[in-house]
Amino acid sequence: MSTDLSGIEGVTYPWDDYPERGAVREVAPGILWLSTKVPFVGLRQVNLWLLSDGDGWTMIDCGFGWDETREQLETTWKSALGGLPVKRLIVTHYHPDHAGNMAWISERWGDLLPVMTLGEWFAANISMNFGYADNIKQRGVWHASHGLDVERQKLFAKDVVPYDQGVSLPQQFKRVRENDTIAIGNDRWRVIVGQGHAPEHVSLYCAERRILIAGDQILPQITTNVSTWPMEPEADTLASFLETCQKFLDQLHPDTLILPSHRKPFRNVLFRLRELGHHHAARLNLILDETHGEVTAGGLLDVLFRGKLDGHQIGFAMGEAIAHLNYLVAIGRLKRVETRDGSWRYAKTGSHEGPVTSPLK
Ligand SMILES: [Zn+2]
Repeated sequence: MSTDLSGIEGVTYPWDDYPERGAVREVAPGILWLSTKVPFVGLRQVNLWLLSDGDGWTMIDCGFGWDETREQLETTWKSALGGLPVKRLIVTHYHPDHAGNMAWISERWGDLLPVMTLGEWFAANISMNFGYADNIKQRGVWHASHGLDVERQKLFAKDVVPYDQGVSLPQQFKRVRENDTIAIGNDRWRVIVGQGHAPEHVSLYCAERRILIAGDQILPQITTNVSTWPMEPEADTLASFLETCQKFLDQLHPDTLILPSHRKPFRNVLFRLRELGHHHAARLNLILDETHGEVTAGGLLDVLFRGKLDGHQIGFAMGEAIAHLNYLVAIGRLKRVETRDGSWRYAKTGSHEGPVTSPLK
């Protein structure tokens, strides 16, 4: 499908490079940017933010839970905080590169209660204790039933990074909800809850200053992982993600500075959101073009993802492929084929509509 974005400028990046290890960059008065390493090949780094908050600092996200990040944080805190303490920790979502050091930071600054949504707190605890996104055996069986070849099944089992390897959780938290306002320094930040990437992901919007701390919900250069997981096999995760994109389109000022969790801060968010809508529509059309007879998620990996996938990426790629298949089922373009062995296959419904288009306005 062609994407007609002619006449619209792409995103722009106010900063050419990342702050160095242990250093910060002030991206707006009182808002400091840190970049920390993650052990995931494609992702490379995650951004954390320190916001000046009266007699202390509010920190957004924790980095992956390994010594590398903890040492970097100690160095940064020593040089950047002006002797003031971190007095509040806000965690955008439960993934290990965001929630990893939650218990450690919390204890380090005198038993802070991390601020999260209930959905993210539960997801973190279920992942840690019962294997929600991370029951590797269950995910392996799920991938096999979705047609993943044996070689890639083995690669996934070998390479996947278990959740509890990068996360430690405190005992308690403090809950926030959609549209709550959090006062940080002299600013008011509104909680926008997003779906599709994690259950109740928090982004923070300061309308007066036109700044959004986006988390993983809006990323430049790379696209947010939108996966369906075995715990909820029929979830239409892509529709949830696109609904959140529409919410941002409706609420954000066009000149908003976006502070994403991965890659660099950027502007022209409305362009980026519409581009994401077109990107997913193009993926859906690729699947429809490829569906002669029956298809499986595993059989679509080489169509949807270019380049070699490592084992950890195979897990995300399968989740994404299944999410796109579920979306096509929900809009009536594909149906799930009943199989005796319980495997998941899809075929066209025979609807003669044209290409799928982005639902974003
Ligand atoms: Zn994430």
